[in-house]
Amino acid sequence: MKIVIKHEECNRCGVCVSFCPEVFHFDRKGKVTVRYWELPVGLEGDCKKVSEICPQDAIEVINIC
Ligand code: SF4
Repeated sequence: MKIVIKHEECNRCGVCVSFCPEVFHFDRKGKVTVRYWELPVGLEGDCKKVSEICPQDAIEVINIC
């Protein structure tokens, strides 16, 4: 699975970073980014939850199998 951030939609509220800091973080410019190209097993559930609770619907979880 892979995460796509729609930066044009993101309002930088930080919900994703607070909920799952293992995957999401702010870069030096304050832009949300992810730590992995492909999600490690065990973090997929948290990322799906984050995509549901993102207030801007700016996170997409893509199945790349
Ligand atoms: S939860 Fe959504 S809107 Fe908020 S910082 Fe993360 S990607 Fe951006």
